[in-house]
Amino acid sequence: MKENVYERKVITLKNGLKQEYFLDSSIYIPLTRDGKIFVNEKRFNKLKLNEQRAIIYHERGHLKKTNILFLELSNYFFILLLIGIIFMIEALFLLIIYILSKCFPLMIIFFLGISFFLVGFLGVLTFRWMSEIMCDFNAVKNMGKSSIINALKKAYENKKFELWRDLVAHPPHKLRISIIKELD
Ligand SMILES: [Zn+2]
Repeated sequence: MKENVYERKVITLKNGLKQEYFLDSSIYIPLTRDGKIFVNEKRFNKLKLNEQRAIIYHERGHLKKTNILFLELSNYFFILLLIGIIFMIEALFLLIIYILSKCFPLMIIFFLGISFFLVGFLGVLTFRWMSEIMCDFNAVKNMGKSSIINALKKAYENKKFELWRDLVAHPPHKLRISIIKELD
């Protein structure tokens, strides 16, 4: 398998602190994977320097220990969610086979599935959202509210809605902005 080579850049943050990041034209919103920060060059260059720094401070938040723990926990809940789906599919499958046999205990498997799914879903949501809000706080702490708010508005401009990315993996950006505005 051919490994992609991403161009490396360095940005100077507060107090001369340097942070490396990489360019990936296939992404829309900046993200962190395998301990590295990636941005879309075209979109990132449209931001003002203080907005770029706010974004990088947000992404640096994802590299912190607690944040990594949140994401790991969210992954375990995601497994639960998948188990829930498997249970439900299995129950429906069995239901079709035994539809006439009035095999009632079947419904228990289905409700077990729904329970797994709901607990899993809520767990994913809680830890993912906590992780994102924590990173927003990191950006606010270092760059102030308006930099990250403007960066968020620009990052989501003209972005087509994706269920996973824009509602589960991240809180809706408008909610994030209102939370940031609430900070003193
Ligand atoms: Zn984030």
